[in-house]
Amino acid sequence: MRFHPSVNVDEVQSLAFWMTFKCAALDLPFDGAKGGVTVDTKQLSLAELERVSRGYIAQIADFIGPDVDVPAPDMYTNAMVMGWMLNEYTKIRRVSTPAAVTGKPIPLGGSYGRDTATADGVFDVLSTLMPKLTRDKDAKQDGAAPDGGDQRGRAAGTVAIQGFGNAGARLAELLEDDGYRVVAASDSTRAIHDAGGLDIAALRRAKDVNGELPADAGDELDPDEMLELDVDLLVPAAMENIITGDNAGRVRARIVLEVANGPTAIEADEILEAAGVTVIPDILANAGGVTVSYFEWVQNRGGLRWSADEVRERLRERMVGESERIWELAADREVTLRTAAYAQGLQRISAAIDATGTAEAYQRRS
Ligand code: NAD
Repeated sequence: MRFHPSVNVDEVQSLAFWMTFKCAALDLPFDGAKGGVTVDTKQLSLAELERVSRGYIAQIADFIGPDVDVPAPDMYTNAMVMGWMLNEYTKIRRVSTPAAVTGKPIPLGGSYGRDTATADGVFDVLSTLMPKLTRDKDAKQDGAAPDGGDQRGRAAGTVAIQGFGNAGARLAELLEDDGYRVVAASDSTRAIHDAGGLDIAALRRAKDVNGELPADAGDELDPDEMLELDVDLLVPAAMENIITGDNAGRVRARIVLEVANGPTAIEADEILEAAGVTVIPDILANAGGVTVSYFEWVQNRGGLRWSADEVRERLRERMVGESERIWELAADREVTLRTAAYAQGLQRISAAIDATGTAEAYQRRS
């Protein structure tokens, strides 16, 4: 569920499409859907935000439910909003159905680890792929065979993060802890830069208190320049269509790590590939959020509560396993990670369609 002034039907359809492939690529037993309200939440009081959340559910209550369509948080919808949504749904249906909404607060049946799941999953994907990418690059440079040593967790380079929200800020913290240097960060108000590394904990505190990044935490940067910084990792973690045919040629990062959905336009993808920039695609990179939404749904349906450690371990296992599979597919078919992620999703979707007998019926007819 997205609350944002630019929400429109085209965008929601694109997000639903990506969600379909994301669930298939991660082997989650969901189809794909998305919802949104065109609204600028910054202009609303808390009471107005609650009325929008409840009013939206009142409109769509007939179309959602644990076996139909299950809302989860996205931009400008947090646990509090999801809690209001579940409460409204429960009032309308008059039965307790915690599995109808995910990303809700823990006391209402939310899962441990859902709030950090997207960033945690991104971190797992990166930790799995980074040693492989580094080995590949070294092998190409030396003309030598990769040594196969496990370099997981080794410190690696500089980072610029566009979008210091739920996903971006938590990821910044994880990367900093792992030895990366986050040299630039931005939100909807400003972009800041410090070549020596930003103090992520201080940024998070300031953002929590004032709702925006502090101007004095580094040099202020033109937000467009963020995308052109000479960094190892460029992390778009806000909106779609950020890297376009116009600016892709100026991207100097070695890797684009797509935390946002659809941040790279199709034309930009081709330019990045030709320039040797690796893109870790959204439908793999940011799938930790929907994966823990799935875990939340499973726990609700089973009347269970898993510990934070259990959720984290299950998430890691899923993200690492599917990243490995997508990496192998990309290597086997000599395609990009994005193509491999879509191929993996498509294989599972088509296998499910075939299993319904549709393919056989077509063959008989032809
Ligand atoms: P959020 O609302 O918590 O944070 C969004 C952040 O982006 C805010 O800090 C905002 O100031 C900033 N922002 C908005 N416009 C910007 C701009 N033009 N330039 C720079 N920063 C800007 O949202 P989130 O949950 O962190 O989601 C961010 C992205 O991650 C979205 O694309 C979303 O679809 C994707 N995503 C989120 C989840 C999830 O579980 N929350 C899961 C998968 C993918």
